[in-house]
Amino acid sequence: MIYLNRPVSPYRLTKKRKRELIKIFIKSRQEGKEKSVWKYADFKDLKKSLNQMSHEKCAYCEDKLDSGGNMMEPDHFYPKERYPTAVVSWKNLLPSCKKCNSRSGKGNHDVKENPILDPSKLRPNQHFQYANQTYEIKGINELGIQTVKVLKLNDAERMLRKRKRNVDEMRQTVQDIQEELRARVSELVTNPGFREKIQRQTNGLLLKTTSVSAFSAVYATVLLHDQPFQEIRETLQQHGAWTTSMESKFEEAHQACFSIIIGI
Ligand SMILES: [Zn+2]
Repeated sequence: MIYLNRPVSPYRLTKKRKRELIKIFIKSRQEGKEKSVWKYADFKDLKKSLNQMSHEKCAYCEDKLDSGGNMMEPDHFYPKERYPTAVVSWKNLLPSCKKCNSRSGKGNHDVKENPILDPSKLRPNQHFQYANQTYEIKGINELGIQTVKVLKLNDAERMLRKRKRNVDEMRQTVQDIQEELRARVSELVTNPGFREKIQRQTNGLLLKTTSVSAFSAVYATVLLHDQPFQEIRETLQQHGAWTTSMESKFEEAHQACFSIIIGI
């Protein structure tokens, strides 16, 4: 999970129109046929703005949306069933994947009664840490612990298996680059082809840690705490091969990076 900068509201509702939409919603629920009030107003830019806010990822699990059938659902952070007056409130909406928005995820969990983290309001890296050995995201405080539990951020099938595979792959790539650099370091200066290849691979690793990539918080955490990667960075810097594009991705990774628990 990463911090999300919420853009300005894509729609403007007068107080009167807002009251009307809330009324339609409440009435439809009372009649047992919940109506989607979005259909009653001009909300065509809503999904676009939500996607823009989260770089087309789920605000909770950071999985990519609108690919492979994983369609975006606007989640009401304060569930509309319990807080119907927040049904059309822009600041109450977060882009979510089907799983996180379903009953087996956040569903209509009451965030007032049992708070969880809203990534458009709080910085996740102040509430989560990462366990290097088990690949798990752990809460640092009660809010973090509850968030992990409610959203099932360590679900074995859905999250852990994929996370382990990708993190292991990332570590292997780092190791491969490190070994190649150790063996052929002088070529960074003499062989443009070699230099370009190493730069491309390093850039690829860094790209995974930026907000546009899925699961970027975990990858940023892993890469920034990885000793061999530090060695790669220093070697490239010493040979004038660490680019400004790498540096800006490296800085962005720091924004998302969790602290780490070693040995758990
Ligand atoms: Zn999700």
